[in-house]
Amino acid sequence: MFGMITKALLQGPRTRLYPHVPAHKYAHTRGQVCIDITNCIYCGLCSKNCISDAIVIEKAEQKWQIDRLRCIACSGCVESCPKDCLFLVPEYHAPVEGACVDVVIGPAPEPAV
Ligand code: SF4
Ligand code: SF4
Repeated sequence: MFGMITKALLQGPRTRLYPHVPAHKYAHTRGQVCIDITNCIYCGLCSKNCISDAIVIEKAEQKWQIDRLRCIACSGCVESCPKDCLFLVPEYHAPVEGACVDVVIGPAPEPAV
């Protein structure tokens, strides 16, 4: 026990004071899901295939939203999107208190002529 304590004291903490100390990124770090909504057709496949129920689509409002605290970065939505709108970036979302829902609104539809 004494040996373990001494070793821990000499080696320092195993954790980082994130976000004050940036997180280390590995080659395959899955940070968070992002969307390029310009090609989104609001088909809802990303939402249907999300095992965490993290994505909500509101087609009438052209709204795509993700609950960051539900998402486990499994990439299921990315792989299921037929329009390649979704992608993972290696940056983690900043820590938050309470709910963390990001809402992305698509461009207004072209006016009918
Ligand atoms: S699967 Fe892709 S195209 Fe369909 S709603 Fe999701 S992001 Fe949009
Ligand atoms: S990465 Fe996985 S958990 Fe996160 S929104 Fe996509 S399907 Fe859901």
